Amino acid sequence: MGSEANTNNQSTVPRKGPNDFIFGRVLGDGSFSTVYLAKDIQTGKEFAIKVCEKRHIMREKKQQYVKREKEVLMLLSDKIKTSAPFFVRLYCTFHDHSSLYFVLTRATNGDLLTYLQKAEKFDEEVAQFYTAELVHAVEHMHLLGVVHRDLKPENILLDTQKHILITDFGSAKMIPQPPFLPDADNSSEGTARRSSFVGTAQYVSPEILTDKRSSPASDLWAIGCILYQMLIGNPPFQARSEYAIFQKILKLEFEYPAVFPSVAQDFISKLLVIDSKERLGAQDFGGYPSIKKHRFFQSIDFDTLYLKTPPCPS
Ligand code: ATP
Repeated sequence: MGSEANTNNQSTVPRKGPNDFIFGRVLGDGSFSTVYLAKDIQTGKEFAIKVCEKRHIMREKKQQYVKREKEVLMLLSDKIKTSAPFFVRLYCTFHDHSSLYFVLTRATNGDLLTYLQKAEKFDEEVAQFYTAELVHAVEHMHLLGVVHRDLKPENILLDTQKHILITDFGSAKMIPQPPFLPDADNSSEGTARRSSFVGTAQYVSPEILTDKRSSPASDLWAIGCILYQMLIGNPPFQARSEYAIFQKILKLEFEYPAVFPSVAQDFISKLLVIDSKERLGAQDFGGYPSIKKHRFFQSIDFDTLYLKTPPCPS
């Protein structure tokens, strides 16, 4: 495999190409990529390398998706916060005649969905910890002007210690900043994308369904869905078809089981609010103090989350 060009000058791993790595087993397949375990020959360090076949990307018209994923990963990797490195990091990219290569942090513990399916549901302590990491990560992402738009347990990978690594930024959107309000979306892209549905049905927010406009508050809605799912095993809005799921979302048609932690219920009910401006955190300016101050996070110190050993999710 001869690389034709490096497309990234990040100083951490400069001027790499496919021949600098030993490619191992397949870690997973996406709709237009295969992710391999790979070892840097020089350093011995392991990475996950996402290989996207150029022909397939062109055929599926996914150029924009791949470009966006790279842009956002580069931004987040550049501004990674040592106290909250909760994102898959992009070390470098390169390409050869047939493929694009993204060299990423290897998530050694798979994804949160797999743990949740094994455990059926999480204890409140586990759900609280992972929601706190998610809030902290989303806060950082939003401050950088990135809205993920496809947050779900499958896109939350786990590192060696089982801290979260958010991935899959192909659906992400950059919003003008600073400063911005979490419910504001005045970007031209918001208008440009009005005809396309973005995200995954069970986690999509009502404003994306009604006027195709997403905002940081759309990610807050998804956090509400994910926490609900962690506590009972299934997301709040479920039905046989995407259309039926959308109808339920628009009518806020979901129930809490008879036994459900009351503080978590209060928190979720403040996130699963139809009007995005009324969602908890949506009126916050710079960070999410109103979310972090909620009683659900009473025992959480957001600044030291990464120093904690995560409670076992299984
Ligand atoms: P799509 O791109 O179709 O939405 P996807 O996000 O699952 O799908 P990829 O990002 O290509 O696609 O990932 C495919 C699979 O590879 C994932 O489901 C996961 O199992 C594995 N994988 C992806 N990134 C990593 C990583 N950094 N470390 C370990 N495994 C990974």
